[in-house]
Amino acid sequence: MIIINSIEELYYETKKAKGSIGFIPTMGALHEGHLSLIRQARKESELVVVSIFVNPTQFLEGEDLDSYPKKEKADRKICELAGVDILFMPTVEMMYGKDELRISAPAIRGFILEGTSRAGHFDGMLQIVMKLLNLIAYHQPKKFRAYFGKKDAQQLALITQMVKDYFINVEIVPCNIVRDGDGLALSSRNIYLSKEQRVHALSLSRSLKKATKMVIKKEFESSKIKEKMEKELTYIEVEYIALVNRQFVPIKHIELGNTIILVAGKVGKTRLIDNIWI
Ligand code: AMP
Repeated sequence: MIIINSIEELYYETKKAKGSIGFIPTMGALHEGHLSLIRQARKESELVVVSIFVNPTQFLEGEDLDSYPKKEKADRKICELAGVDILFMPTVEMMYGKDELRISAPAIRGFILEGTSRAGHFDGMLQIVMKLLNLIAYHQPKKFRAYFGKKDAQQLALITQMVKDYFINVEIVPCNIVRDGDGLALSSRNIYLSKEQRVHALSLSRSLKKATKMVIKKEFESSKIKEKMEKELTYIEVEYIALVNRQFVPIKHIELGNTIILVAGKVGKTRLIDNIWI
C-alpha cells in the first residue's frame, strides 16, 4: 500500500491503473462499516483508493471538527490489511484555495432533514466529494466506481444527483449499513458514547425495527409509524423522524421497495443518525 500526501504523487500513481478504480472517501477512524465498502471495492476493482480527510467545510460552527476522532496509525493498518492500494491523506491546504466557487445542495432534497438540522453541511460535503472524484479519476480510468454507505442516505442521494447533474463519469455504489451485534449502526462518533449512553443509543435502531414490524403487519401510514417510533426513542433528543421515498420526497404512506425511514437525534452531546430501507 502506498500512502500519498501530494496531488502530483496521486496523479502519478493513479495513471498506472489499466482497468478499474474503486474509490472510498472517508473521514478516518475506520470501522467495519468503512471496511465493508473497502471489501466490496477490492472485489470489483483493479486499483483501490481510500481517502482520509476530515473535511472542514462540511462541519458547522460548534460541531466536532477539532475533536473528530483521529486514529491514523490504526487506519493505516486496517487499510493495509484490507488490501487497499493507495491511501490518500491530503491536507486542508492541498484541497482548498482561497475564495473558491461553491457547490450548493439542491433546493428540495438538500434542504430537508439533515439539510435543515445541519444547514450548509451538504454544500461542504458535495464540494469535497466533487474534488475527490475529479482527483482520483484524473486520468479517466476505464471504469470508475465510488462506494458510499446507505447509513448516510441523504448524502448518498445528493451525491447520486450531483454525479448526474454534472455529468461525472463515475458509478456510485450504495453499500448496506453495518451494525454492531446489538443493532447500533457503526459510526466513528460512537466512541463519544459512555456505557450508559450507548444503551440509550440502541433505541434508534430499535425504533426502526419496530417500524419494520409495523410495515410487515401492513401498517402503511407514516403518521402512525412515526408515533410508535417516537415512543421508542426514550433518552434521545429527537431531531427528526421521517419517511421518504428513494428520491427523498416525504411520503404519507409507505411505498414498498421505495421507502427510507430515517431518524436523527442526540444522546448527550453526540448526534447520531440511522435509517432503514423498506
Ligand atoms: P465517514 O468516514 O463517516 O465520512 O464515512 C465514510 C463512508 O462510510 C460513507 O460513505 C458512510 O456512509 C460509510 N459508512 C459509515 N458508517 C457506515 C456503516 N455503519 N455502514 C456502512 N457504511 C458506513
